[in-house]
Amino acid sequence: MKRQSSINWRLPTLRVRCRFARNDVLLLILLFAFLLNACSMNIFNGATPTPVIQLDNELQNDAVTPTLAPFRFYLPTPGAAPVSGWRPPLYPIPWAISPYDHFYFARPIAADQVNWPLADYRYGGIWTPGFVHTGVDIDAPYGTPILAAGPGTIVWANWGLLTGDPGNRNDDYGQAVVIRMDFGYEDQQLYTVYAHMSKIIAVVGQHVQTGDVIGQVGATGHVTGPHVHFEVRLGYNSFYDTYNPELWMAPPQGWGVLVGNISDNTGMTLQQLEVYVTNTTTNNTLMVKTYGPGSVINHDPYYDENMVLSDLPAGLYKVHFDYEGKQQQDWMRIYPGQVTYFTYHGSGFNLAPPPPPTKDFLPITPPPVPTP
Ligand SMILES: [Zn+2]
Repeated sequence: MKRQSSINWRLPTLRVRCRFARNDVLLLILLFAFLLNACSMNIFNGATPTPVIQLDNELQNDAVTPTLAPFRFYLPTPGAAPVSGWRPPLYPIPWAISPYDHFYFARPIAADQVNWPLADYRYGGIWTPGFVHTGVDIDAPYGTPILAAGPGTIVWANWGLLTGDPGNRNDDYGQAVVIRMDFGYEDQQLYTVYAHMSKIIAVVGQHVQTGDVIGQVGATGHVTGPHVHFEVRLGYNSFYDTYNPELWMAPPQGWGVLVGNISDNTGMTLQQLEVYVTNTTTNNTLMVKTYGPGSVINHDPYYDENMVLSDLPAGLYKVHFDYEGKQQQDWMRIYPGQVTYFTYHGSGFNLAPPPPPTKDFLPITPPPVPTP
């Protein structure tokens, strides 16, 4: 019993001592903190701190006063997904992965601007009855430089290209330039045409390189606004020898081209049919019409197409259209720098490419080389 009581008595003493010791430390910390604070508040000397370098009045007037406005974060309200105008740089020309492709040309408008065809004004389109479009239109502001799509020699630089009447200011092409390219295709001469210029810069006989400025965008001739009308002619420099430029202009890198031949079950092409092409990743849908009627429209010697849609980012697409009251659809993959080809002959899609070209199909003229 005694031992127990002795232990009981000692323990509280220890506890008390410990409590005193802790309080002493706390008091010291509080005192130290108070002294520090008092120093910073100049309680002891009452002096205001002076700058080490005295600013003169002018400098003081110009001194930046901090704004008191609180930080604010303006978070954008999500809207409709923007349709990006951005395109990767074009493949270097000549670009042809398969032996029957011929992306030989750069574009007549520089890559830092809209340099792709207007969706509603493609090759083979008809928006004035009896008038079939023999090229593509590229929208550009008045005065934008028009560039040579490849190396060649200027063979026309004047009004009157359609009528063949130099100086004719009533001509549909307005002021136009034609380049006879330094190369051909399938042993036939290639030409490129640039129309509706506000100003012609090139002269007949001049040799130009890809990207040389040959004129400026305008609205001369049969137009509704400033743009460049671009044509590819094969064989002859004639209105009747145009081909779809979207099969001749190099695609943006990583992007491809969709080419179709759409006909009924008797083989008659379906004209001005609205074909919808939906990117299954972005859900972005583009519409392209098949070529309209008209003998001035020519078809690629290999693809025999009646529909081309260029500048498609590589990926999986759904191609669909209404025919005989029913939606026809199929899925197709677009590959970088290549043509994806399909046919539809009244009952269904066929994604097999045309048979490989025979030896005599290959272009005899070698790809373009720079001319001195
Ligand atoms: Zn045009």
